Amino acid sequence: MTILATLTDGLGAVRHALRRHFLLGLVAVTGLALVPLPATAQQRAAPPAELKQITNDLYFFYEFSGSNAVFMVTDEGVLVIDTRTHPRPGQALIDMIRKVTDKPIKWVINSHFHGDHHFGNAPFKAAGATFVAQAETARLMQHVQAKEMARRIDGFKNQGLDPNEVKLVLPDVTFDTNMTIKLGGREARLMYFGPGQQAGDTFIAIPHARALFTPGAFGKRSMPNMAFTPSVDNWVRLLEQVAAMDVDRILPAHGDVATRADVKELAAMLADEYATVKDAVAKGMSVDDAVKTLTFPQYKDWRNYNRLAGEIRALYELIQTGKRSYLD
Ligand SMILES: [Zn+2]
Repeated sequence: MTILATLTDGLGAVRHALRRHFLLGLVAVTGLALVPLPATAQQRAAPPAELKQITNDLYFFYEFSGSNAVFMVTDEGVLVIDTRTHPRPGQALIDMIRKVTDKPIKWVINSHFHGDHHFGNAPFKAAGATFVAQAETARLMQHVQAKEMARRIDGFKNQGLDPNEVKLVLPDVTFDTNMTIKLGGREARLMYFGPGQQAGDTFIAIPHARALFTPGAFGKRSMPNMAFTPSVDNWVRLLEQVAAMDVDRILPAHGDVATRADVKELAAMLADEYATVKDAVAKGMSVDDAVKTLTFPQYKDWRNYNRLAGEIRALYELIQTGKRSYLD
């Protein structure tokens, strides 16, 4: 694997990123004066976005502080997995593809309903791509569109992105459990194993590259959002199944290129987090006390550790009510 280039979306993005880090620094300092905040990966400088070449025809766009994307280049055209969080970074992804090939962008797969994986769809639509998603993803993309926008507005503003530019682009083709896309002698095999992090989460095997794209269910050393899962047990089982698949490299929706051992590590973390929170509920601990006392210091260097309080609250909701209010 070689690092092709270190990319940014231009000076504006760099400026905004610097400002963000500066503000985070201030928050950390203020936090230290009032309530000690653990140093997290987010509070250190996030690594710059990179385009990594995985094989001669497969590319992984990795953005630690955002979301990842994958594209496969063939003689007949390009297949893209996920389009980033907004039409402008979506267009920046197209610009990266255009530096590698002038072949048409034929297919776009949206791996799950979170806006940071499909809000960049519009410029790909304009480029003539056919969009594919699992049927539940298609449904949820419409159903929670307003909530997905609402939870990203501040992020858009911090990055100088206009929320009004986001247009919902729904799939042209949906599938239930399996679908194979053939393009230029290559294959992408789309697989749905049921809900882990959420319904509709789509895994995509690229057999010739012995690579597997993983959706929201897995991110390398990344603490996942717990607001959508109907069953952490199913999620852990699903990850154990994925970790046993015959592939050499994992290309996650968040976090860097990973191995099957990293998938096992996340399964163990989820099982640990879930068991710990379940135990607190069983002991009658209030959710506010759980947020204060369950600090999981062993994961302090993981991506999104700073969101832990919200994840504990989301697990309390699941354990105590069985509900996923975000999906209402
Ligand atoms: Zn995401």
